[in-house]
Amino acid sequence: MENRILIVEDEEKIARFVELELKHEGYETEKVFDGRTGLERALSGEFDLVLLDVMLPQLNGVEVLRRIRKESDIPIILVTARDAVMDKVSGLDAGADDYITKPFAIEELLARIRVALKRKKNDNISTEKLSWKNVIMDIDRHEVYVGEESVELTNREFELLKMLLQNKNIVLDREKIMDHVCGYDYVGETNVIDVYVRYLRTKIDDRFGLKMISTVRGVGYVIKEEK
Ligand code: CA
Repeated sequence: MENRILIVEDEEKIARFVELELKHEGYETEKVFDGRTGLERALSGEFDLVLLDVMLPQLNGVEVLRRIRKESDIPIILVTARDAVMDKVSGLDAGADDYITKPFAIEELLARIRVALKRKKNDNISTEKLSWKNVIMDIDRHEVYVGEESVELTNREFELLKMLLQNKNIVLDREKIMDHVCGYDYVGETNVIDVYVRYLRTKIDDRFGLKMISTVRGVGYVIKEEK
């Protein structure tokens, strides 16, 4: 899907020029010409990045930026006037990802947009999915799949599996697992972990003919990296 960029810029000539170049690069764009509309559109959830001029009617760019940041972490590149050092400083303080100074070379703007979008994408990937062979855990959606089949897990089973998948090849002892899965104030025997492992094995290993969780005798459990 194309990345959608919101251009907030009151100088129509500049806005038109930037839009043309961005479209040429394959981005989808929308232009708005004042701060208030810019704020409203930026928070619509329809964009992947905001190009935000500082000197704007109704609401200046830094103020728009501050208000966006209260609700959204959308990448924002601030467009400042030449030598407006204060704008840059307060802009970055207010949470801009980057800034560019007018007049700018379009290639420089495109490069900064690519970097900001890539950074955002990497952030998303880091919390996305864990997997082992065809076992896939979607953390955000709290779902586990083996191939196409969905597996129902209780919260504790899910937390246990997540911990093992996040620590592949590291043997986790029962104490550590229990602290994490049951909470530090849990009072009980560590063999409760053996019970959860057995549930997981029934739901995943036995059902799908896998050997995902290995027992390390006298210590605990590990999921080994697939070879
Ligand atoms: Ca302006």
